[in-house]
Amino acid sequence: MSDHSVHDPSSTHTALRLRTAAVHAGESPDPATGASAPNLVMSSTFVARDAIGFSAHDLDDDSGFLYTRWSNPTVAQLEAKLCALEGAEACLCFGSGMAAATGILLSLLSAGDHVVMSDTNYAGVAELGRDTLPRLGIEVSLADTSDARNVEAAIRPETRLIWLETPANPIVRLTDLEAIAAIAAAHARAQVVVDSTFATPVATRPLELGAHYVLHSLTKYVGGHGDAMGGAVLGSRENIGALRLEAAIHYGGVLSPFNAWLIMRGAATLPIRMKAHESNALVVARFLEDHPRVTRVIYPGLPSHPQHDLARRQMDNFSGMLTFRLDGGAAVAERMARELEVIHYAVSLGHHRSLVFWLDTPGLMESSFRLRGRQLESYREYAGDGIFRMSVGLEDPADLCDDLARVLG
Ligand SMILES: *Cc1c(COP(=O)(O)O)cnc(C)c1O
Repeated sequence: MSDHSVHDPSSTHTALRLRTAAVHAGESPDPATGASAPNLVMSSTFVARDAIGFSAHDLDDDSGFLYTRWSNPTVAQLEAKLCALEGAEACLCFGSGMAAATGILLSLLSAGDHVVMSDTNYAGVAELGRDTLPRLGIEVSLADTSDARNVEAAIRPETRLIWLETPANPIVRLTDLEAIAAIAAAHARAQVVVDSTFATPVATRPLELGAHYVLHSLTKYVGGHGDAMGGAVLGSRENIGALRLEAAIHYGGVLSPFNAWLIMRGAATLPIRMKAHESNALVVARFLEDHPRVTRVIYPGLPSHPQHDLARRQMDNFSGMLTFRLDGGAAVAERMARELEVIHYAVSLGHHRSLVFWLDTPGLMESSFRLRGRQLESYREYAGDGIFRMSVGLEDPADLCDDLARVLG
């Protein structure tokens, strides 16, 4: 019925190279005004041209816009751009990365199902896996996914999802996606979800490596400017269509068109920003490795990263996330909060501004991860008693090193 297709991002711009797709995919000059920039359509409802049904079940790929919780022209443009970047058939945006995570977990899982989840991942997802899912009758096994054999050992007949994050927050440990997708393929019910927020589609495209779903916190690198929260899940047309029905239309945690518009502007420069994040991070990582007080630096782009070979195989860009360790971290963290002049002492990541935050291992074990035995040992190999997690921004890297040098003494 409609001359503007809602969920068919593949109709335009499929063959563009990454940087061109980032700028143009999902966008075209407005036919009414010729506007070169995308319209911001702040409308919750749309005047219907046909008498169509009112249930979410009446929505199909050819439906026009009806109500913004179902879909919105500006959000749809961002979804099309993200599809082009990830090489996905379909995308669904959410109001935050956590809304995307709960949307996919709650819509796919039922009581009696089993999930294998990375034992180290975004704290909100870790806590959801530890507290919320078991309350709903869903069993979660935590695995150190950096060794694919641990995933294989944890799979059961009732395993429905394998939840991965690479590089994993906060320790920047990697997971071999191809190896785990191959394991999942032998188990008909098990689908692979990859939280690819740290990598971005510039570094890694998990769907091409066999994952069923890829998730992003758009609040981070994709938006890139620390101003708008958002999330996205990408996958096959069929899977994302089902997700839209359940997680967007029924759970309702959808992305505001205004935030979609801001995030779309950020996404246009994602490939060139990631280049700059990577080259800045390499400068900062080398500076820290040479600093006498710093005992360990973890950055996928350094040969000293325990999985540097996997990083080179799986990442076209090493991103801007690194961690470092030194003796007396907690006291240095206090100095950082008071004395850093350029770098912000703050949580979050992927912004043009550099951010650093101290994460002490015992505290994080109590609040989020609760690892024991070999899993705790593996975590501590990366993080010791605590790490500074740094999101290297787009400033001149010499100013970042000067800022750190002053505080580290
Ligand atoms: C931030 C983050 C999330 C959650 O995203 P929000 O937009 O803050 O809700 C999920 N996963 C990873 C890896 C993140 O860094």
